[in-house]
Amino acid sequence: MSGKFDVIIAGAGPTGSTAARILAGKGFKVALIDKSEFPRKKLCGGLLTYKTTEVLNKIFDCDVDCLKKNGIINFESPEYSINYRDHNIRDAQSTIPFRFIDRVDFDYFLLKKAANAGAHIFTGEKISHCNYLDAEIKTASNHIFKGKYLIGADGVHSTIRNSVPYDKTKWRTDMAATIEIIFDEKDYPRKVTKPELYIGHLRAGYIWVFPANGKVVTGIGALKRCTKDFKKTYMDFLRNQGITNPESLPMHGYPLPYGNFMENPCFGRTLLAGDAAGLVEPLFGEGIFYALQTGRYAAESIVRGLTENKPAEQFYIERLNKYIFPELRYSNYLRWTLFYSQPLLKHMSFKVMFKSMPRILADMVHGIRSYKFLMKKEWD
Ligand SMILES: Cc1cc2nc3c(=O)[nH]c(=O)nc-3n(C[C@H](O)[C@H](O)[C@H](O)COP(=O)(O)OP(=O)(O)OC[C@H]3O[C@@H](n4cnc5c(N)ncnc54)[C@H](O)[C@@H]3O)c2cc1C
Repeated sequence: MSGKFDVIIAGAGPTGSTAARILAGKGFKVALIDKSEFPRKKLCGGLLTYKTTEVLNKIFDCDVDCLKKNGIINFESPEYSINYRDHNIRDAQSTIPFRFIDRVDFDYFLLKKAANAGAHIFTGEKISHCNYLDAEIKTASNHIFKGKYLIGADGVHSTIRNSVPYDKTKWRTDMAATIEIIFDEKDYPRKVTKPELYIGHLRAGYIWVFPANGKVVTGIGALKRCTKDFKKTYMDFLRNQGITNPESLPMHGYPLPYGNFMENPCFGRTLLAGDAAGLVEPLFGEGIFYALQTGRYAAESIVRGLTENKPAEQFYIERLNKYIFPELRYSNYLRWTLFYSQPLLKHMSFKVMFKSMPRILADMVHGIRSYKFLMKKEWD
């Protein structure tokens, strides 16, 4: 099972499968390694924006209709609602629907596409050691994989990131905590037909109630350092929704990078992408798009690096600087503007603000407009 490859990819979430599909499709010998057996669960709200379905089509050759036909998109709604505590601020309509997936099916679908492109898949293999300078990893079952390049796509708890020198204090400072409870539709006190966001309960975070096929996905996410009574806030919210004794329900927590993205995720022949590098949008916590896009950039940079005999790092950083970091920086500014103004503005002022711009707001989330001054956004 051990061996030599062109590229080793640690982690077979959306980031890893994207990178594997691209590299294997170009004829490179790729090892895609994950500690889990697939299909596997991943805590997630499952919301896909327009920019995400666009990039999925580009890489995996599957548009929205194809994703629906394959049972991957299981719900969609052009409507959304924003609420300040118990007050509805805005029920609005987006020109493009918000779409929903279940990560069990979605991640497995992408992994199979990577395998079909020729990637060598090693699941149930936990990476325990990494020599990032030599692009070499060792698994818990003592298998050694060596590549010309290594992509760290192993998520928020990344073993690859933990083997490189990086600023751990900054990383911890902007980490969010999340909890999710998923209900059977029949057990939720009312019908949920559109994504609903609730602000004002937390200083730096929000609560979501998302529709899904036969389910209602509820969750809370907030910056740890700004949050007191995190779980209690969520339980009180659910009680207010009409759920009795929410504490007794099965709930799961998971950390979410929330503004702690690494401005240089390159360490010689090791490139970090997706959650492993904190590449998540810091206002709404959207991560799937950034996982796909940075997995793609890392892979395409390695293709250029190997073909032109130049360091892949320079190509990767160039594209992150051009397309990804401006979005993350400006959504971070917007988040602090919103979160700091919450106690001052209260719901009436939010109502005025959101009333005037519901379409623009949806366009920004979908990636049609940039978080930077709401300008039209061009992705490559
Ligand atoms: C509660 C919650 C809700 C969210 N909701 C949304 C949403 O609605 N929309 C959205 O766009 N984003 C959402 N996100 C963010 C999104 O889930 C992530 O950004 C996305 O999963 C990142 O993909 P990834 O491939 O980088 O990492 P992951 O999906 O975490 O995949 C990493 C993979 O690496 C493997 N791995 C880890 N360690 C090892 C090891 N040592 N050896 C081998 N394999 C290893 C894991 O098994 C896993 O398969 C949410 C996140 C949370 C926590």
